[in-house]
Amino acid sequence: MIVIGAHLDTWDLSPGAIDNGVGVATVMDIAQHLVSLPKKPKRTIHFILFAAEEQGLFGSFHNVDLMVENKQIDNIKYMINIDMMANAKGFNSVGHKGTEQFIEMVGKHIASLDSTYPNINEHKKFNPGVDHKPYMLQGIPVILPVQGMDPKMVRPTYHTDRDTMDKVKPEYLENNFRRIGELITILANLDSVPAVKMDDEQTKQWMLKHNFKEALMRTNNWRWEATS
Ligand SMILES: [Zn+2]
Repeated sequence: MIVIGAHLDTWDLSPGAIDNGVGVATVMDIAQHLVSLPKKPKRTIHFILFAAEEQGLFGSFHNVDLMVENKQIDNIKYMINIDMMANAKGFNSVGHKGTEQFIEMVGKHIASLDSTYPNINEHKKFNPGVDHKPYMLQGIPVILPVQGMDPKMVRPTYHTDRDTMDKVKPEYLENNFRRIGELITILANLDSVPAVKMDDEQTKQWMLKHNFKEALMRTNNWRWEATS
């Protein structure tokens, strides 16, 4: 199973166009398209719109808790989170080894179909405060699209009343749909996925290596012993 999610909520005063109307539209566009195809992918794709991300990732933690409870958590092979993501220009492997090569391969493929695709990938950066965090805490590999809008446009507007629809161009939505949809389609049809879920100890070591312990302790998400 591949999980693709975006949070549905926004801040009280914000229209929430970039954060996160674009993400919701992208998930719905890809779902609508894939469901309409006669051939089904090899893997199940689970499309989710999360509630209450801005209050503390309540929807995504709830989904992970349910999957653990139903003993389905090991069936999730990848999680793709779409948050503040307009005009996707590449993908972020979030530091998972097999994923790095995979997104480079997918990037070349998308660029061969779309001459405007910047194909700018990242391999290390990620923000542990968003909806992929509960999945990462379970050791599930994550892929994040890379924001293609000018940061000078995005930074001063999100979480404010200036996060309005006029910032979102129709081609940004089309690009998101085609580029992220292509990656998901490939991932859902591979014989085996490029990176595998880490076990509990590997997940702990991965978090330590990437210096996330302090951030996770601050949000009460460090579930390993307090001293190492
Ligand atoms: Zn957001």
